[in-house]
Amino acid sequence: MAVLSSVAAGEPAGGSEVVRASGADTAPVMHLSFDDGPHWLFTPMLLDLLDDYGARASFFPTGETIVARWDAATTQDLLNRGHTVGNHTWGHSDLSKLSVDSAVAEVVRASAGLEALAGFRPSCFRAPYGEVGELRSRLGADLGMSLAGWTADPQEWRDPPIEEVLTYLRSRESDGMVVLLHDRKWLTLHIAQRVLADYSARGWEFEPLGACDAAGAQGSRMASRVSGDLPVGQVEGSASGDGSTWLEGWAFDADLPQGGLPIRATVNRLEPAIVARTTEDHRFSFPVSRASGDRSGRICVWAVNVGAQGHDPSLGCRILPAG
Ligand SMILES: [Zn+2]
Repeated sequence: MAVLSSVAAGEPAGGSEVVRASGADTAPVMHLSFDDGPHWLFTPMLLDLLDDYGARASFFPTGETIVARWDAATTQDLLNRGHTVGNHTWGHSDLSKLSVDSAVAEVVRASAGLEALAGFRPSCFRAPYGEVGELRSRLGADLGMSLAGWTADPQEWRDPPIEEVLTYLRSRESDGMVVLLHDRKWLTLHIAQRVLADYSARGWEFEPLGACDAAGAQGSRMASRVSGDLPVGQVEGSASGDGSTWLEGWAFDADLPQGGLPIRATVNRLEPAIVARTTEDHRFSFPVSRASGDRSGRICVWAVNVGAQGHDPSLGCRILPAG
């Protein structure tokens, strides 16, 4: 039975409490978070690395950086793969040194920048340097965001040896732990690779922060697509019934507004095959088994692009539980 428990790995840093549902019957969860991106090279490499492990994470780019470096298609790709995007201010200001009006302006500008790319306003906020200042009282009611802190900060900006980072994470280890990293360093890719390999082998799962799942994001993302755009969508999870497991989610191509969008997946260990088509309400589901995935039980999913040009966007990968 799932119970609400608060993380016991010392006091949460970054100004918020982390609460998640956990129970003996579920795998331990790590929330990887990546701040201050996107980087033109490291972020795309990181997204591929996360897919290798069926992992999903939370990203907190500064508004200034994501608007300068990414377009809507790139941002939708991150969301398609199941990751979340949150507000990290426009220019990475220390909010404790700003008036509350200036702090609100920094955050509102970043949300508007993200909305132009993602189609929706972010529902979570991470304070630069963990300094929320007087903005704390305005975040929830006025700005519609919850504070996303962390429970482990390996401080990879110091260039620590990777073994030191792994030892540190072991000392902070607890179900629902939130790890602060930055997708702007080569070292971070190596750290992420080791963490993903080590914790996956021990049965951990990697999920985005629940607070960053913005309500209505699906409808807003669909509404922001026009004919010719790449499809958008998301694998939402697996469901079990009748002794079989189903992977389900949604996908939408503005060139096929009535549904019927083909979904491709690697379910036969061979080439990706079309396994489903979306319904009128743009949902899909298809049966999977661990045996149909690759050696690690991984299944990857794509939405077929029916528009004039472009590739089939990835909807990310999932590792099917054993047994
Ligand atoms: Zn930052």
